[in-house]
Amino acid sequence: MNCFVYSSKPYDELFLKEAAEQSQQQLRFSEARLSKETAILAKGFDAVCCFVNDDLNREIVQALYEGGTRFIVLRCAGFNNVHLATTKELGMRVARVPAYSPHAVAEHTVGLILSLNRKIHKAYSRVRDNNFSLEGLMGFDLFGKCAGVVGTGAIGACVVRILHGFGCQVLMHDVRCDEELKGYGAYVSLEEIFHRSDILTLHCPLNDSTHHLIQESTLAVMKPGVMLINTSRGGLIHTSDVIQGLKRAQIGSLGLDVYEEESQFFFEDFSQQVVQDDVFSRLLTFPNVLITSHQAFFTREAMSEIARVTMSNLLAFENGTAEGPTILC
Ligand code: NAD
Repeated sequence: MNCFVYSSKPYDELFLKEAAEQSQQQLRFSEARLSKETAILAKGFDAVCCFVNDDLNREIVQALYEGGTRFIVLRCAGFNNVHLATTKELGMRVARVPAYSPHAVAEHTVGLILSLNRKIHKAYSRVRDNNFSLEGLMGFDLFGKCAGVVGTGAIGACVVRILHGFGCQVLMHDVRCDEELKGYGAYVSLEEIFHRSDILTLHCPLNDSTHHLIQESTLAVMKPGVMLINTSRGGLIHTSDVIQGLKRAQIGSLGLDVYEEESQFFFEDFSQQVVQDDVFSRLLTFPNVLITSHQAFFTREAMSEIARVTMSNLLAFENGTAEGPTILC
């Protein structure tokens, strides 16, 4: 099958090419992000391979279909960027990589918690500047603190186990309980998890029920000084409300790997330009905010698994054998 790969970086090409050799798929790589303007590039390709910030809205899916594309393989877990109603209506098939390395994202999440708490990002530049003062670097013991995990699927479950290992009192919230995790903490209501958590970390998908889960009204019931972490999807957080929460110290620190408007600049080098997003720029002015640009997944193991599953999804579509948890429709 021939497949057009959108939003491709050298590291994607490296891992996908290696996996494609074994499954004999024909890949064409492009740095272009899928949009209304770039959908034409895939004309004549049976399949497209897309990533988190490729736009697969109704109009774009239709344009791909008109160009002859019948298969969409996502090289990510989240699929909030795909208009599945349209793909179903057109009879297109969509696959994803549901769990390539939940450990990668969970470990990055805990990395953000530790860095923010012990201000390692600040200490790093301070020591390099021959400034050995500890002023302003005080953190807190994670041991005994209440850590709330919203969404206890593949990634959330790993986070629960790691935080339990630190001696945190773990609270969990999900629309369905994982019996095995009850040995590591307690499932509670959303209200209770907001109310009791010293650290709150989000691992649920972005959908209608979770959009702007964190906003003014939910921030109001949280512990003053809560540490908030989001490595899931930017839309879970109402960014302007969170900025207000930081200004009045309702939020003690904020760690983000995702941002609502990230598709405009994440994964690209804007170091020689002025970023035009004033909300994002305001976030960067807070000393207690640490942002990474959607890199939580980015380990060798995860990249290799993403490439392997993506190629096996293409092969399954080609052979008409596609079924199971990787298939969305
Ligand atoms: P998953 O499907 O295994 O788990 C998601 C969990 O959220 C499920 O247990 C589900 O029941 C729960 N959930 C659904 N709706 C909920 C709600 N309203 N309230 C509470 N819980 C709810 O997914 P996962 O692999 O653990 O991934 C979680 C999210 O992490 C993905 O949706 C994706 O957006 C994000 N992600 C980010 C990166 C990154 O690099 N930053 C990488 C992979 C995934």
